[in-house]
Amino acid sequence: MRKKIVAGNWKMNKDFNEGVSLFSEVINMVNDEIIGNQQVVVCAPFIHLNSLFGLKKGYDKVSVGAQNSHQEESGAYTGEISAVMLKSINVEYVILGHSERRQYFGEDNALLAKKTDIALKHGLKPIFCIGETLSERESGEYFNIVKSQLAEGTFHLSPDEFSKLVIAYEPVWAIGTGVTASSAQAQEIHAFIRKEIAAKYGQSVADETTILYGGSCNPKNADELFSQADIDGGLIGGASLKSRDFVDIAKAFN
Ligand code: 13P
Repeated sequence: MRKKIVAGNWKMNKDFNEGVSLFSEVINMVNDEIIGNQQVVVCAPFIHLNSLFGLKKGYDKVSVGAQNSHQEESGAYTGEISAVMLKSINVEYVILGHSERRQYFGEDNALLAKKTDIALKHGLKPIFCIGETLSERESGEYFNIVKSQLAEGTFHLSPDEFSKLVIAYEPVWAIGTGVTASSAQAQEIHAFIRKEIAAKYGQSVADETTILYGGSCNPKNADELFSQADIDGGLIGGASLKSRDFVDIAKAFN
């Protein structure tokens, strides 16, 4: 049985005190209300990460993740954070290839392949994001786009390495727009992603790969999205900034 995950991506939101409050609320609600085996992951800005471990104490239903890491281990890269640094404070997950990084920071598949290598080398679990833009969806090119993002970013990995990844399908047109993919649209492409993984790594690796949906996911649509055969959870932006909404989304797996 592959792992069910609901991950929050706070993006560039929450100052230090706000982040402490939000995370504390999430921990308490998860502790009281989550009864399934789903894993809750909070991907916070770098300034929060170390302090979140103090708040979470021994509670292991909640994991901590970063939103990015650099493709080199160390060096003269002013302003950057390495996988080595993240690992040194026990960060478990790292989002790589988010569409905002691709769009605003020029991250392409080749760079993301390097970031993935370094993150894995240092024991982080990448949440590797793929997804098409609106024009790519409308032109019908989206299968090819998603396939090339997946293949160029991750298919150089060994099966053992690949099996440490979480894949997140986030159609760019659904991110922060309030327009979610329908459950049928999301299931169609999740099944396609799993098929591509099976063709490359075999059915058992594909069956074990957690594939998350992201894009305007909320407590109202989570149940239906997460009940699809190939949707194993969500990567949640806006709704992860409200503890009640975020934990309600995670409860779709209770
Ligand atoms: P929204 O949930 O705000 O649409 O953002 C999704 C996202 O980008 C998560 O990484």
